[in-house]
Amino acid sequence: MKLKNNLVTQMLIAFILAILVGLVFGQNAEYVQPLGDLFLRLIKFIMIPLILSTLIVGVASTGDMKVLGKLGGKTVVYFLCTTMFAITIGMAVAYIFQPGNGVTLEATGETVEPNETGGVLETLLNIIPTNPINSLVEGNILQIIFFAIFIGIGITKLGSKAAPVKNFFDSFAEIMYSITNAVIKVAPIGIFGLIAPVVGINGPSVLLPLIKVLLAMAVAALLHIAIVYSIAVSKFGKMSPVTFFKGISPAALVAFSTCSSSGTLPVTMKNVEENLNVPKKVSSFVLPLGATINMDGTAIYHGIAALFIAQVYGLDLSFLQYLTIVLTAVLSSIGAAGVPGAGMIILSMVLASVNLPLEGIALIAGIDRILDMFRTSTNVIGDSSAAVILSKSERTTDEDVYVNSQGVVG
Ligand code: ASP
Repeated sequence: MKLKNNLVTQMLIAFILAILVGLVFGQNAEYVQPLGDLFLRLIKFIMIPLILSTLIVGVASTGDMKVLGKLGGKTVVYFLCTTMFAITIGMAVAYIFQPGNGVTLEATGETVEPNETGGVLETLLNIIPTNPINSLVEGNILQIIFFAIFIGIGITKLGSKAAPVKNFFDSFAEIMYSITNAVIKVAPIGIFGLIAPVVGINGPSVLLPLIKVLLAMAVAALLHIAIVYSIAVSKFGKMSPVTFFKGISPAALVAFSTCSSSGTLPVTMKNVEENLNVPKKVSSFVLPLGATINMDGTAIYHGIAALFIAQVYGLDLSFLQYLTIVLTAVLSSIGAAGVPGAGMIILSMVLASVNLPLEGIALIAGIDRILDMFRTSTNVIGDSSAAVILSKSERTTDEDVYVNSQGVVG
């Protein structure tokens, strides 16, 4: 925990230092660019194995085909729908706020080629890999996600027969988490190496858009929470939104300050069970799954960040690219771990799927912690809304079960 806080401080210091160096040294700040390139290469290095392993583990974690089929089916449909709303709200707000307008940067590290467009149907068909190994080699994110989901389903279906593969990906994912941790530790150096030249070459005008990004994130998250969750909870969960938000507020605050939905999980469970009368049977399935695969706040952030980066680099996105962002963000948020900063790493996949420059991440990396606060509390509130709705649909929130569950808990 202490280390993480240190890292956040280091990232902020690196960000401020980079601005100063950029302002003082102007064009000469370009000499530190290799430090930024180092960080970019490290992010690219972990991207593919990370998404593959964590997503397989995420899908396989349901454990049982019946559970996966029944409760899992409903839960996943709800997760997917709300995440789809989230990314759409995020992109709409970013479209209206235009946080990246007023400053234009040139992509240096990455070539930006327009995506080949062959019609919506073809794009959708293209998600199915004809050779998954090729998809891995080429880094085709959507195809990799498709591949990973089906391996996850296969593992769940086969149970103990597939245990060696499950164990392999479990430990592989752990290894990738630990490599990711190591890479995040280099983030301050990367931020310094990427921001200083940007400020040096473009001047201070490049900083103003960041305030707009923060504002866009806060507005989109609040809109999503107030509209989508209120409607969902009152319509499908038959619960007053006021009761819901009041009951879940301690967990939302913990999420806001820890930036980890996994870390907040014990508080979320307690709030949902004790304040919102959700039986343990439902909460213990929906909430851990949600903390792993349901990331509405992260999806909002992906929408805003992708549009912001496209605007900053002066790239017009086609309809198909918007669609690809929605699809990738929905699917890749499934693969994001519920730990601080995960959404920022996963952002690289969303950007890569529409050929947006990865170095754009550095622009917002300095304020990532604040963005993460909004992401994580939205994620946690979203998981809790699913628990309320699922408990209603399983018809287990009646008085008797409540009393029983209280007995068990108490
Ligand atoms: N920190 C977020 C969470 O734990 C994930 C993210 O970085 O978007 O939910």
